[in-house]
Amino acid sequence: MIDPSSASLRTTTAAVLHGAGDIRVESVPLPPLGEHDVLVEMRSGGICGSDMHYFADGRNGSNVLTRPTVLGHEGAGVVAAAGRLATVAPGTPVVIEPAVPCGTCPSCRNGRYNVCTSSYCFGSPPTNGLFAERVVVPDSAVHTLPDSIPAELGALIEPLAVAVWAVERAQLRPGDRLLITGAGPIGLLVAQVAMDRGAGEVVVTDVNDDRLAAATRLGVTRALNVARDDLDLTGLDRLIECSGTPAALNSGLLTLGPAARATVVGQATPALDGLPLAFLQRWEIDLVTAFRYANAFPTAIALVDAGTVDLERLVTARYALTDIAQALRAPTTDPSNLKVLVEL
Ligand SMILES: [Zn+2]
Ligand SMILES: [Zn+2]
Repeated sequence: MIDPSSASLRTTTAAVLHGAGDIRVESVPLPPLGEHDVLVEMRSGGICGSDMHYFADGRNGSNVLTRPTVLGHEGAGVVAAAGRLATVAPGTPVVIEPAVPCGTCPSCRNGRYNVCTSSYCFGSPPTNGLFAERVVVPDSAVHTLPDSIPAELGALIEPLAVAVWAVERAQLRPGDRLLITGAGPIGLLVAQVAMDRGAGEVVVTDVNDDRLAAATRLGVTRALNVARDDLDLTGLDRLIECSGTPAALNSGLLTLGPAARATVVGQATPALDGLPLAFLQRWEIDLVTAFRYANAFPTAIALVDAGTVDLERLVTARYALTDIAQALRAPTTDPSNLKVLVEL
């Protein structure tokens, strides 16, 4: 526990992105601990595709880095100090839900806080993120981890929450025949959640054999390398697009049957050529999107606690905070990587 007058409440060591390819591990000021805030001693951070985009290009989609920012939105640790009115006690292991909504707008009041227009997200520039030894966050942004989930692995609850929300948005029903395009960490987590929800058939596609082998090990019905083999499927009930590749979405849609539903989870291209719109209309196929998650962390935690989802088997590499640049490059330099963790 940390004495509120301690110097460790004022600064922390963190991975600060200064520009494309320029990330520095340096001391940054911590915001003051407000009465509803907690100070979290971080233990794990997860490298996500968006972190890799910020590092490689200084931007992710339309969000551009305009000032040095601490990266990282997947993170877990242990509460080390709590503000006067905070509801989480020091010593509690927690995962941080990085997007903080306003709580009062119509979207927030309707339970769709993930589309709050006044939200901010740790690790989305210019908001400082979680690749730090310590962070100060509102108590509403933390979820307690049970004993079965060590904080060293807790960062992976965030991508699992993405998967939980994706399956929710997909309105997956028991027995559904499901296609998942993209066997990265999100696709593999979606597969596990979908199998738990009773999907009748789970087909996973990718162009990376290592990732497809990981899907096979998880017990999916079929793992298909679409660089080699034709996507010879018809009449499927659900598509969950996790690759961010326009061709994967367009070809995946054509496998769907009447009144099916497709959910776009992978980072979407700004505009899409080749969308088979007439086909979608003829068969009344719903095309929906998913963005982050709403109320999905408790479910994600419960799935791991119950042993339904094994986070450890997704982890292929661990790096120290001082090696953050290597960690951010690892999935590109070694495509057999699935999830890369940063030890904080
Ligand atoms: Zn992420
Ligand atoms: Zn709101």
